[in-house]
Amino acid sequence: MNYLKKNFSLKNYNSFKLDVTTSNFAKFSSLEQLNYLLKKNNKKLLILGGGSNLLFTKNFEGTILYNNICGISIIKENKQHITVKVGAGELWDNFVSWSVNNNYSGIENLALIPGNVGACPIQNIGAYGMEVKDTIEKVIAVEIKSNKIKEFKNVDCKFKYRESIFKKKLKNKYIITHVLFKLSKSHLNITSYGDVSNELKKLKLDANPKNISLAVSNIRNKKLPNPKQLANCGSFFKNPTITRQKFEKLKKKFPEIIGYQISEQKIKIAAGWLIDNAGMKGYRIGDAGVHKNQALVLVNYGNASGKDILNLAKIIKKKIKEIYNIELENEVTII
Ligand SMILES: Cc1cc2nc3c(=O)[nH]c(=O)nc-3n(C[C@H](O)[C@H](O)[C@H](O)COP(=O)(O)OP(=O)(O)OC[C@H]3O[C@@H](n4cnc5c(N)ncnc54)[C@H](O)[C@@H]3O)c2cc1C
Repeated sequence: MNYLKKNFSLKNYNSFKLDVTTSNFAKFSSLEQLNYLLKKNNKKLLILGGGSNLLFTKNFEGTILYNNICGISIIKENKQHITVKVGAGELWDNFVSWSVNNNYSGIENLALIPGNVGACPIQNIGAYGMEVKDTIEKVIAVEIKSNKIKEFKNVDCKFKYRESIFKKKLKNKYIITHVLFKLSKSHLNITSYGDVSNELKKLKLDANPKNISLAVSNIRNKKLPNPKQLANCGSFFKNPTITRQKFEKLKKKFPEIIGYQISEQKIKIAAGWLIDNAGMKGYRIGDAGVHKNQALVLVNYGNASGKDILNLAKIIKKKIKEIYNIELENEVTII
């Protein structure tokens, strides 16, 4: 275990590359170490994974614990499925590689999403027609207050689009240590989202978990800025849901508006389209900017502060409200 470090720089621990510090920082790689750190700590606490969904707006006055519990092990198996227990500190994309290399299906469309396994339930990560809620069997976590282990069944996690109980009611109350996934031995082959089937055709590959993860990775590499080259946190805002009635009204004014039906009366709108159509793609204030190709992605060109990025987000929200009367909600957690 790395014992508590004082005034520790988080620059290499957040994908916006913000130059902030935390009063205390420690890494743990076992339940015993976590137990010890929790007993010792009397400050405000934050659990950090890959830092790819966080915006630090100031120095953190408290203790940041970096979860480094690793390991992937099959704990149950039958003809159709396996249940696999994964340490929260495993890199998400390494787990996707493990799954597709073993020919299991259920998370292949989520290839190349940055971050660690422990954070995947927090906002129910999703991409290209898959959400992680559909494979999560259980989440194992330690309650910060009592230092006791609690198991959350899938239904207890209250998963929704980019939401779970851990992002709402239980925010900062539990530390996820392991996630149990139920993966399928038969192939789901979801290829109808984005350009997945076109990419497979281009590569002259059949649909199977490994090939789909390759196709998704290729598409993501072309479309999304790599945080190692241009600091960002992926989509900054959620895609808003509006009523069909409001959608029809907007469609008259903006015939090109992009919406997906999610129920009889609800339509999910592409927030990137709203921002792009508002003329804000590529918009920049100092080093805080809207990405030039992906309007949903805010970037740090170098020396932006968390406050600069938050200020840009506020300006975008105001404009979107004025033009479309839609309130954008942050997907990224603001600290
Ligand atoms: C280029 C790029 C593309 C992205 N694409 C997608 C995408 O397609 N789909 C998608 O859903 N997301 C996407 N994201 C967002 C991000 O990768 C995910 O939300 C990811 O799950 C965050 O993982 P992390 O380990 O970096 O979490 P962090 O940013 O470290 O933490 C996020 C939140 O979870 C909490 N947390 C983290 N670990 C734990 C734990 N073990 N126990 C309790 N709380 C914890 C933190 O306190 C924080 O509140 C993208 C990000 C980037 C930079």
